[in-house]
Amino acid sequence: MKPSCKGSGPVKGDAQGGLVNVSYREMLAGKGLKNTKTRVLVLEILDHASNPMTVDEIFLTLKRNEPSINLSTVYRTLDTLVKSGFILKATLMEDSRARYEYNRMEHRHHLVCVSCNRMIPVTGCPIDEYANALCSKEGFEPAGHRLEIYGVCSSCKKA
Ligand SMILES: [Zn+2]
Ligand SMILES: [Zn+2]
Repeated sequence: MKPSCKGSGPVKGDAQGGLVNVSYREMLAGKGLKNTKTRVLVLEILDHASNPMTVDEIFLTLKRNEPSINLSTVYRTLDTLVKSGFILKATLMEDSRARYEYNRMEHRHHLVCVSCNRMIPVTGCPIDEYANALCSKEGFEPAGHRLEIYGVCSSCKKA
């Protein structure tokens, strides 16, 4: 029996049999976090984003709903949501270029272009088997793993 590859994110309802339709407010409450308007909005924005977003993009989108919001609130909110596992952050050299995405149930890896910040999803998990073998050798109980490969994407290489 091969243990399946699990992500490091929240396991919303997974243990109970896969129901995922939890509201953002319930998700926050489940982690003991206050339901602030900004937190709910950020979750909603990232949940519906087709691509990972930069802080600036999130900030501009938020401003449409909360015109008085400031950038430091956005950073603080993102930080909290990353720490709670609701969203994922691809860490790049500079914080301002980091991208955030909604942490979906599926386990995913990315190739991250350091030139344009594009994140290219990798299908399947390339290190699942290796990670499990390593863990059982060490008597280690795996809870998840992350892998990002940094480099230059094909369109940036041409430019
Ligand atoms: Zn690129
Ligand atoms: Zn993996």
